[in-house]
Amino acid sequence: MMFRFIQLLISSFSDQLFPSLCLGCSQSLETNESFLCVSCRIALPETGQHREPYDHDLLNKFAGKVPVKFIASYLYFKKGGIVQKLIHHIKYKRRKEVAKELAIWYGNQLTMECKHIGNIDLIIAVPLHKDRFKQRGYNQSEWIADGLAEALHIPTHNNILFRTSFQESQTHKNRLERWENVMSVFSVENSDLVRGKNVMLVDDVLTTGATLESCARELIKFGCKSISVLTLAVTGR
Ligand SMILES: [Zn+2]
Repeated sequence: MMFRFIQLLISSFSDQLFPSLCLGCSQSLETNESFLCVSCRIALPETGQHREPYDHDLLNKFAGKVPVKFIASYLYFKKGGIVQKLIHHIKYKRRKEVAKELAIWYGNQLTMECKHIGNIDLIIAVPLHKDRFKQRGYNQSEWIADGLAEALHIPTHNNILFRTSFQESQTHKNRLERWENVMSVFSVENSDLVRGKNVMLVDDVLTTGATLESCARELIKFGCKSISVLTLAVTGR
């Protein structure tokens, strides 16, 4: 009790000395703001893709490769923009709670504006390789999945999809393909948990889609019924 009191005292004292700053504009935050000020939150470059999930160009990333039923990203990622700053803090500054809170904001929107979400049985985060997980201490995509799970009331499991090592022969591939291949080797355990399920794959940033495609392919191999994809951000625009 005493310890908790001292902790609170120290944290309120340090808040006064070093007030929390907005990750977007570096202004001091009000007590009811957690990591973005109201102005930066309002200005977030939302894609709105979840309102037209079957009718936007993201689906083309997977067309002819792997069947993806639904795909949407919350925010546009632009070099030097606010979303890049947020992702940087999430991945490299240990601000994993930012990932979860953004996902909760998105999840609340999805609940109100996206009928497709009602069909999802299970949320699975794109896994990190275990060496990378050890190095970072957490998987940011799992924190996004946790936020979505909380807002959408859909279960999430981190013991199904795993990123494995790099054994496949790569001699016939060009440099980019080699890199993507290295990044994209996955395996499924506890496959009974995905069989017949409508799975939503979750990742931080959608770029080429190669990683998500590999995950989707592996899950389909083990009998999952459909794949949907949600990411916090998408490059382009
Ligand atoms: Zn701000």
